Amino acid sequence: MRMKKLIYLFSLCLLLTACGQKEQPSLSCLVNPLMGTSSTFQFSHGNTYPAVAVPWGMNFWSPQTGENGSGWMYMYTDSLIRGFRQTHQPSPWINDYGTFSIMPVFGQLVTDNKARGMSFRHDNEEAAPDCYRVKFDNGVTTALSATSRGAVFEITYPSEEEQYIVVDAYQYGGSVAFDKEQNCIYGVTRYNNGGVPDNFGNHFIVEFDKPIAASGTDENACAYVRFRLKAGEKLTVRTASSFISHEQARLNLNREIAGRSLEDVSEEARAIWNERMGRIKIEGGTEEQQKTFYSCLYRTLLFPREFYELNEQEEPVYYSPYDGLVHDGYMYTDNGFWDTFRAVHPLFTLVYPEVSERIMQSILNVYDQSGFMPEWASPGHRSCMIGNNSISLLADAWMKGIRTFDKEKALEAMIHQTQARSKEISSVGRDGYAEYDRLGYVPYPEVHEATAKTLEYAYADWCLARFAEATGHKEIANTYYRKALNYRNLFYPENGFMWAKDSDGKWRDNFDATEWGGPFTEGCSWHWTWSVFHDPEGLSALLGSHELMAARLDSMFVAPNTFNYGTYGFVIHEIAEMVALNMGQYAHGNQPVQHAVYLYNYVGEPWKAQYHTRNVMNKLYNSGPEGYCGDEDNGQTSAWYVFTALGFYPVCPGTSEYVLGSPLFPKATLSLPGGKTFVVNAEGASDDNCYIRSAELNGTDFTRNYLKHEELLKGGEFHLLMDTVPNKERGINADDFPYSYSTN
Ligand code: CA
Repeated sequence: MRMKKLIYLFSLCLLLTACGQKEQPSLSCLVNPLMGTSSTFQFSHGNTYPAVAVPWGMNFWSPQTGENGSGWMYMYTDSLIRGFRQTHQPSPWINDYGTFSIMPVFGQLVTDNKARGMSFRHDNEEAAPDCYRVKFDNGVTTALSATSRGAVFEITYPSEEEQYIVVDAYQYGGSVAFDKEQNCIYGVTRYNNGGVPDNFGNHFIVEFDKPIAASGTDENACAYVRFRLKAGEKLTVRTASSFISHEQARLNLNREIAGRSLEDVSEEARAIWNERMGRIKIEGGTEEQQKTFYSCLYRTLLFPREFYELNEQEEPVYYSPYDGLVHDGYMYTDNGFWDTFRAVHPLFTLVYPEVSERIMQSILNVYDQSGFMPEWASPGHRSCMIGNNSISLLADAWMKGIRTFDKEKALEAMIHQTQARSKEISSVGRDGYAEYDRLGYVPYPEVHEATAKTLEYAYADWCLARFAEATGHKEIANTYYRKALNYRNLFYPENGFMWAKDSDGKWRDNFDATEWGGPFTEGCSWHWTWSVFHDPEGLSALLGSHELMAARLDSMFVAPNTFNYGTYGFVIHEIAEMVALNMGQYAHGNQPVQHAVYLYNYVGEPWKAQYHTRNVMNKLYNSGPEGYCGDEDNGQTSAWYVFTALGFYPVCPGTSEYVLGSPLFPKATLSLPGGKTFVVNAEGASDDNCYIRSAELNGTDFTRNYLKHEELLKGGEFHLLMDTVPNKERGINADDFPYSYSTN
């Protein structure tokens, strides 16, 4: 059995050495970038694409099977590739911007993306974080690797028939021109789906290492160049881009790509991935579990992207998608904080604080340039989702010791975020803030998705209060702590669920806990009732008792998986995914409910969190094209798995606590800032042993249902004894429960 596993791992790595690696097998060998790519508009198994990139890279590269403009750029079930695309797409629903593609064309010149696709089979495709390689059915081969701002391609043609490269700048005001002197293409792509100033452009250069025999352009912003190569002769294409200018693109190309081979670039990218992913080392488990883990970690480390570049002096500068000017400093983008505040950013603050530092500065830069902090940015503000989770990010970072941002400006920006709303973009600022402040809740139907907003605002108010308190602003803290209890105002005692009230205080008619939309966002009351991250104890009081809250959690998993699509008017994909899971009303495919299984820890039944977290990991994730049970969403659904596999999860960012589940692997080692390591030793962890019998932290008996950030940062060993049966005596006392505002 063990031998078989080793042989398999070895052969997998050999497969992935196609880009020329010579060193030992590495963690990146365990990543399957195709995880989640078998998705459609109607049903998402992740809605991902195989990104060739470095962590947080400014550009990603992906084979493109869909037509230009389709958010479904790579669908596993497709059989044609139309281009290799520089992409910045965070989600098919948000779509792409600053996009261009490079495509070999063979036998006959075709530039139009609708007609130039070449067929391939997955057997002839190799995808890794650092390299994508495919052999088309016609014998053309393409391999590519990327740095943050550049990429290298190697392309071969099977014979000396007509050989072309097409460079597609995606119309929409884009342009391409061949520069004879420099044997390269200069292009600008202006393709976008919003969130950019008028002067937005992605300036790119594409260079070839072989002489050009002919060149031209078409009316759709495509350029083509023709080559006369021998069969199998390698054509190297080097490219880089800049959101600032062609001069900066040249600088990026010279710095990252010039004179380097595919092997060089791929090897460097792989080393970066191995260092970043290597900060979390797991041991044991099955090979499939290891692959799922590292495939999830890869996804967690892609977004948000570096939108900054380095000038001649190697200082960070960026084109601002907010004011259209070039500024000094950091800018990150392509992130929906509604998703990523939950677990992605908490993973960064723990394991990648150097990145968190820059992200926090970037948030305040957005405030300077646009008057608001970002909530869903791609690349500028986008009207998508709800809440003030930018406040959660800053507060959580501060509580975890990331303090390189201007705290006074942060507090000002946070307060402003709660007292204003962008006129054009409803998700920026606080929609319904005046009503919320007047009534203590956002009224429905006066305001769309009002109950979901109320719940998120109350949490954001608590985050703001925490931050104000920690930075010496007592009065502000007190004001916002009071507002943090506003979630109570929409708890409908008659039915024991969160529901909706109009501005006269009248409860909404026809209560239905399975009704999606309306006062809720992409969910129903079964899911949103749990969105009281900062005060599960207070929620438990509303539900009646600890026992009743546990019973409600139990019933979520066994209730019929029926639904009322409500104001959506059709079965949105999140509904279809919940029904397909067949886990009652538990809808792990979308974010509102993802922390809910951990809430058992707050009511004295931690073994149920252990059981369900393990069950969700094993049942709803795998490393294949159907590996997720809904949208992956900028790393969030992946980060849930990463944390959960380690055995703990940040239920309430802003508290510095990690609530316990059940470690998937017998051993996990976190390399933390300051050279410390924190080891989770889950003795006997296996599919049969998901329950915690007992725990010790650094040799001392540990009864709590949570770990503290400081405990992890100090380093040490968390030793758990795993069992087949629950220990119903452990973690049942109030002292052992994680933070709740009501009890503090
Ligand atoms: Ca989602």
